[in-house]
Amino acid sequence: MHSVDAVVAGAGIWGCTVARRLAELGRSVLVLDRREAVGGNVRCETDPSTGIEIHLYGSHIFHTHIPEVWEFVNRFVRFNGYQHKVLARYCGRTYFLPLGLALINKFFGTELSPGEVEEFMKDEAHASAVFDAFFRGYTSKQWGRPPEQIDPSIIKRVPVRSNYDVNYFNDHCQGIPLSGYNSLFERLLDHPSITVRLGAELRLEGGVFKVGGDVLPAVPVYYSGPVDALFGCRFGHLPWRSLRFETEWLDVADYQGTSVVNYTEADVPYTRIHEFKHYHPENAAAMSARRTVVMREYPCEWKPGDEPYYPVDCEESRALLSRYREEAAKVRGLVVGGRLGGYRYFDMDRSVEAALSLPL
Ligand code: UDP
Repeated sequence: MHSVDAVVAGAGIWGCTVARRLAELGRSVLVLDRREAVGGNVRCETDPSTGIEIHLYGSHIFHTHIPEVWEFVNRFVRFNGYQHKVLARYCGRTYFLPLGLALINKFFGTELSPGEVEEFMKDEAHASAVFDAFFRGYTSKQWGRPPEQIDPSIIKRVPVRSNYDVNYFNDHCQGIPLSGYNSLFERLLDHPSITVRLGAELRLEGGVFKVGGDVLPAVPVYYSGPVDALFGCRFGHLPWRSLRFETEWLDVADYQGTSVVNYTEADVPYTRIHEFKHYHPENAAAMSARRTVVMREYPCEWKPGDEPYYPVDCEESRALLSRYREEAAKVRGLVVGGRLGGYRYFDMDRSVEAALSLPL
């Protein structure tokens, strides 16, 4: 291949955004990914029998309130306007999340108004009943530890409202690409100055970057794999939570009537069921098919070799992370980012924002 001005290792949303920006600045970019496909964990697959877009690594809904991010992604794909709602199943009844009037009034059999709910929830008995029903079991399954042992910012991702708004996110820009998530990545990388090499894992050996049998030129490297892996995990493994998915094809038109239902009780082994056809209400053929695809999500302990999903924020991981960051800072031209590289609980828009604000 011709000369390379920059290497992007990891073709997830952060890496692809960086690659695109570099290409538009006139640089020749080599994009690597250890997988055989681009898109990272946003990767989807279309079910040939129904046309349903299956999110291979769990549901991804693009949502943001950052105008630059929304503008950027809309250069490449159009979004379908899907607004995310999450239901919660607890003791055989189904509730609308997040924590708002719909959930609270159904749970307590009340008719509280927006002006009354705050006072009502100040009562410790009410607050802990809601917490125990909808957060304790789910969080213990998701993180493998009781909610008291996880950073409160994680649970605070779920909005608290005093109205009937059942939109799961506070962001006003939301949707799923009409042409599918894979097309977002394909279009980001569709530039004459970008070359993509798949099944290609970046290695750092003796201060030199390599891929396969090739030594890479001494150019900036934008890396979004796990930062410990780049250094052979020499100080130990950064801890992650992992997920296992069970996908099922069912001969019914509609299994659960919505895209995501959370199962908040501790003794249901999965945390949620995704039913993908609901992400594309505009796809009449998929919606009316007498077939559906559902996926059960089981959180699990991560061990080396498993897919990392969620960084585990604790004293030990913070200490390890800063050691790896120090190592990374010593490598000339290396920039580490993205959810895995940054070891951050990033939503997609935050990854794009970080990639857009990177000085290049
Ligand atoms: N959570 C919960 N019950 C729910 C939904 C979320 O306890 O029904 C908690 C749980 O600890 C979870 C966190 O809130 O990890 C953040 O939820 P979110 O839906 O943002 O998780 P994600 O979709 O990123 O996995």
